[in-house]
Formats: sequence, structure tokens, C-alpha cells
Amino acid sequence: MNNPPVLISEEKIRQRVDELAAQISSDYADKGDVVLIGILKGSFIFLADLSRRLSIPRTIEFMAVSSYRNTSVSTGAVRMVMDVRSNIENRHVLIVEDIVDTGHTLKYLIGILGSRKPASIRTCTLLHKAESAEVDVRIDYIGFGIGDEWVVGYGLDYAERDRSLPYIGTIQPDDRA
Ligand code: 5GP
Repeated sequence: MNNPPVLISEEKIRQRVDELAAQISSDYADKGDVVLIGILKGSFIFLADLSRRLSIPRTIEFMAVSSYRNTSVSTGAVRMVMDVRSNIENRHVLIVEDIVDTGHTLKYLIGILGSRKPASIRTCTLLHKAESAEVDVRIDYIGFGIGDEWVVGYGLDYAERDRSLPYIGTIQPDDRA
């Protein structure tokens, strides 16, 4: 099978991750330790690259959630599958997502993590489908805005395929079956 067409190249991702890391490092410079919470599975490559480019003290945690979807369409219901392993009370939290589509997943995460009294909570996503937003959710750091299309690669999948592609590619509706 052919590889999906390129939407965002490896080079563009590298440049943008550098810029995000510089911005985040500067914003947190006087705050001390930040807890980066990567949302599995899709954020694992972005988190690995972003965390290695930061120049501030940071620790890594993971959460896994499952968003109920009928194939590629969100139903809006979100469930936690795996929680973080440490106490985040009084700590600065940065949620690291692969993609924000309708916003339901991020809203759920902000609600659950925010209730644990962190010192602050911010959000970072590599990709944002602004046209698809269904709920109002605050995103502090956005890598790229994209249209309403299904993307794969750099951690993102379609039915567990294509996560290891080094770039972000698009899957056409016909290929999704
Ligand atoms: P939301 O709750 O914002 O609608 O959806 C967020 C989750 O949906 C993401 O974390 C991701 O798992 C999935 N998702 C939404 N759009 C895409 C896409 O284009 N490609 C992939 N691989 N996952 C997506």
C-alpha cells in the first residue's frame, strides 16, 4: 500500500516543535518544575521530541483516554483508561495532546486534572482542527491548524496503522474503510 500524501513534512514539524519548546521554556522560566502529561497513544512522539527540546526542569507523566467514535466521527463521550502516577497538587501541569478536534477530550482532561488543585494548568496540542470545535476549550500552545480531514503519522493512527510515519499525512475518506 502507498504511503499517505504529506500534509506537514518532517522538516516543518521539527521547526515548529523547536518554536513551541522555546516559547514554553520562556513562559515557564520562573516557575520551576513543570509536569508534562502526554495523552496516549497519539502524543508519544510529539511529547518525546518536545520534552527533549525544553530548557526548563520537567517531569513526564502519561494518561490514556478513550473517545467514543463511530469510525472517525466523535460522539463526545470520553472515558479514562489510565491515570497519571503522581500527585499533581500544587504543581504546574502542561497537558500535551496530539490533536484537538471537537474539543471534548481536552475539556474532560482539564476538568479532571483541574479538580486536583494543580498550581496551574495549560494545554498544548500539535494539531488543531478549529472548524470542528464543538466545545469551548482553552488551548495555550498550538503547533498547526488543519482542516477537517483525518491525519496520520508522527504518533497518530488510523486503526493503529501509520503511527510511525515520520511526517503528518492525510487519509482520504475512501481509504478509511
Ligand atoms: P476530540 O475529543 O477533540 O474530538 O478528539 C480528540 C481525539 O480524537 C484525539 O486525541 C485523537 O485521538 C482523535 N482524533 C481526532 N481527529 C483525528 C485525526 O484526524 N487523526 C487521528 N489519528 N486522530 C484523531
